[in-house]
Amino acid sequence: ASSNGAPSFTNVPIIKFTKLFINGDFVDSVSGKTFETIDPRTGEVIARISEGTKEDIDIAVKAARYAFDFGPWPRLPGVERAKLMMKFADLIEQNTEELAALDAIDAGKLYHLCKALDIPSAANTLRYYAGAADKIHGEVLKASRELHAYTLLEPIGVVGHIIPWNFPTAMFFIKVAPSLAAGCTMVLKPAEQTPLSALFYAHLAKLAGIPDGVINVVPGFGPIAGAAVSSHMDIDAVSFTGSTQTGRKIMEAAAKSNLKHVSLELGGKSPLIIFDDADIEKATELALLGILFNKGEVCVASSRVFVQEGIYHEFEKKLVEKAKTWVVGDPFDPNVQQGPQVDKKQFEKILSYIEHGKKEGATLLTGGKTVGNKGYYIQPTIFSNIKDDMLIAQDEIFGPVMALKKFKTVEEAIKSANNTRYGLAAGIVTKNLDIANTMSRSIRAGTIWINCYFAFGDDIPFGGYKMSGFGKDHGLQALQKYLQVKSVVTPIYNSPW
Ligand code: NAD
Repeated sequence: ASSNGAPSFTNVPIIKFTKLFINGDFVDSVSGKTFETIDPRTGEVIARISEGTKEDIDIAVKAARYAFDFGPWPRLPGVERAKLMMKFADLIEQNTEELAALDAIDAGKLYHLCKALDIPSAANTLRYYAGAADKIHGEVLKASRELHAYTLLEPIGVVGHIIPWNFPTAMFFIKVAPSLAAGCTMVLKPAEQTPLSALFYAHLAKLAGIPDGVINVVPGFGPIAGAAVSSHMDIDAVSFTGSTQTGRKIMEAAAKSNLKHVSLELGGKSPLIIFDDADIEKATELALLGILFNKGEVCVASSRVFVQEGIYHEFEKKLVEKAKTWVVGDPFDPNVQQGPQVDKKQFEKILSYIEHGKKEGATLLTGGKTVGNKGYYIQPTIFSNIKDDMLIAQDEIFGPVMALKKFKTVEEAIKSANNTRYGLAAGIVTKNLDIANTMSRSIRAGTIWINCYFAFGDDIPFGGYKMSGFGKDHGLQALQKYLQVKSVVTPIYNSPW
């Protein structure tokens, strides 16, 4: 059943911030250009946003550079940075509803989920790293009999953050919070599809007392503003989340410019592997949520589901029944489980993969069509009779499209799971400890979920293997991306040095 009734405009926020945020002020772009940000429920324009180009990135980098080289932020005791980060977190919570509405209208995300989860979690991400800000320290080394040495962990400098549109809030803080704690200054380019909450966060950072120039937010397009970040000679590190294709360009630009440090969180084609001993009811719920959560626009979506032959038939039947009751519609409606895809481009891309799946010979069990006559809504879609080398089993579709496959043995499951260029995450459902242990050590992916899925935590490092990228977000590990090690060596009294 799909409900795609008239959008309820009651929760739509007034858009307050549409300009670039540079050196503590909202400013027009140098070119004066603007671009439209679109409501994916209707395809209509929400607001016009100042479009950052290379000139604006240059100005923002100058501000960040000055704030890093001469400003207070990197020089503050960690505990003082922490206090401001805590204040920033409180301000986020005080504005939860408005922020949730911005992400819902800009990205088609479920308003009530943003309010309950995305926004409060972002505040907690800031608090987690605030707690780390005064615990960043090096080691004391006795280098030799004559030399004494120690290491300093210093902030890496000016960081460029380039983020995608699927979790505008989480992505902002996954990058900004650890780099703030480390004492870095930064230029963040939000995705062109979802600039609204990022600009609001810039405003809150200022209210919290984060000094001017520390956080700069420059909306704009990838090949222009994004490329200006990755190729900039005065940015010391770039932290990117998005597609593998763009990740390659970022690395290339870093190599061709100043060899800035690069970390990449890229795409995935994550398998969820369900064994015969699983609770079928629970497993179907996990599998559906794994692919339909956030309309499948999730880098770790369980887009490949492998089910052991003993329960396959029953599993498939239950899964399809449940998928048919999944509610697609306006993301402000509390009964809706799936909103619209983020934009026309993604919408069309997903539909073309669905057509491809049919042509490749996969069986369309349910879905495959659009919902309603406006906006970018797609039915939950499940294909079975998948072969590992089909395009819909290899490419990241980034939509509500599951590839379902039957398997016999543990060995076969491992082989299929690893038959991908990606390695972001995997899920295993079994009560058998031996199987769980064997699978978790055999799958080449950065996160393994056993009897759960999407179980994230601020303290759990997250990042890919293989072409899903490198460098961890989340956890104390993420701090390392924004720090560098300096060794200080001095002779011990009377040494020949
Ligand atoms: P993308 O990689 O093109 O965009 C991500 C970010 O990179 C955006 O801010 C974009 O403006 C920027 N960008 C684009 N081209 C750039 C360039 N040449 N130099 C510097 N920055 C650039 O992703 P997309 O086109 O928005 O989405 C396409 C695919 O990306 C999706 O279908 C999905 O496969 C993948 N994706 C992955 C994630 C993830 O969380 N891993 C998130 C969003 C999208």
